[in-house]
Amino acid sequence: MSMFKDIPVDVGVIYEGERIRRNDMQVELGGPTVKEKFELAKVKPMDEIEDGKITIIGPDIKDLKEGGAYALGILVEAAGATLDQGLEGVIERRIHGYLNYIEGFMHLNQRYDIWIRLSKKSFQKGLNSFESIGKVLYRLFKSELPIIEKVQITFITDPAKVAELYPNAMQDYESRDAKARGLKDEDVDKFYGCTLCQSFAPTHVCVITPQRYSNCGAISWFDGKASANVDPKGPVFAIDRGELINAEKGEFSGVNEVVKKRTMGEVTQVWLYTAFDHPHTSCGCFEAVAFYIPEVDGFGVVNRSFKGVSVNGLSFSTLADSTAGGRQIDGFHGMSIEYMRSKKFLSADGGWNRIVWLPKEVKERVKDFIPKDVIDKIATEENATGVDALKSFLKDKNHPVVARWAAEEAPAAEAEALEVKEEAAGTMMPVATAASLPIMAGGFKIILKDAKIYANKVIITTVKSEKSEKR
Ligand code: ZN
Repeated sequence: MSMFKDIPVDVGVIYEGERIRRNDMQVELGGPTVKEKFELAKVKPMDEIEDGKITIIGPDIKDLKEGGAYALGILVEAAGATLDQGLEGVIERRIHGYLNYIEGFMHLNQRYDIWIRLSKKSFQKGLNSFESIGKVLYRLFKSELPIIEKVQITFITDPAKVAELYPNAMQDYESRDAKARGLKDEDVDKFYGCTLCQSFAPTHVCVITPQRYSNCGAISWFDGKASANVDPKGPVFAIDRGELINAEKGEFSGVNEVVKKRTMGEVTQVWLYTAFDHPHTSCGCFEAVAFYIPEVDGFGVVNRSFKGVSVNGLSFSTLADSTAGGRQIDGFHGMSIEYMRSKKFLSADGGWNRIVWLPKEVKERVKDFIPKDVIDKIATEENATGVDALKSFLKDKNHPVVARWAAEEAPAAEAEALEVKEEAAGTMMPVATAASLPIMAGGFKIILKDAKIYANKVIITTVKSEKSEKR
């Protein structure tokens, strides 16, 4: 793009979705090893903003040791005659998209979770200062969102300064979220969709409703509305909710239609309030994952910043890998922390009565939204670090899922195996044919279309807890 001819590297949509591996990176900013990092947008009065000003507090990129990970705060302060604080979330979420336009620059996640890498190659080409990064951001903000008349950008790498500003940023996110609470899905006839993550997850459409934040936790229904208004051609768009097909599961005809269209037919049905059967797709930037634990017939939740392994022995990144990429994985649900504060939080599956484990840090953040009669019955890493310990904990506390165990054990038919041998006499006959047959393996869903299956041996086993009994 010609507006970037003074920038040492290319800038354009084609660089979106570009991954930079550890071996290829010059520096990392934020990310899992850095505790405090953030990006924040603030709307300010016109006279408080110096248009185009770029400030660097702390060492610049060229002064950071190669291969290291550093604290970072990005502050985008904007002003405009018709700009108000209701647009801060919208402006802030654009940082992700715009920074990913830069060749050799990777930006993941949002808010307090940002993770940035600059490639060695782009660094060697001369991209060695936040001055250039700031210029790209500034020009894209001005050209893509004309409602912004003035904008100044600050990069903070001084760890002490990042630590000082971090609590304020967290408070800003919280008050923004609090403002968006209260409205119900039934009260509106429009939802919002977001495809900002399609560069990384091509079959993902975030469906944002008053009671379901975007997976990343950075776009409320109000943000969606504001974004679609100021930038109708942007990544966030209105969805006519359409007809309510299933109130319990959260299925709407308008959502199905839009998702089908925007995923090129990959996803045709979405249930907003459940992690089973047709769960909302998961992109890659979700704040947390809810995962089904079959042994206790309940859900665990683990968030991105949780360092240990969750109660089923898997870390956040392993669980995230098995659900991310725009797929619908039965029993897995990438989601925002704010969604846990919603009355619709996995409501079709039992809501909080079905949650059995979550990190202490998350429990603390959402404690005011957990029903009083169940809060002490939900384990954290302090109560249980494995499924057996979890089972005893839940039993001791008489967690609501315990009642489900009894109901399931009653008709427990002994697992019985039935073997069918297909004698291979000359040509083999198919043992099964199917128009569309999904197979779940290794976290992937493989769909065989018009399949004929041949086998030397077929083993049919009745398992103790049938899928249908879990619901
Ligand atoms: Zn996302």
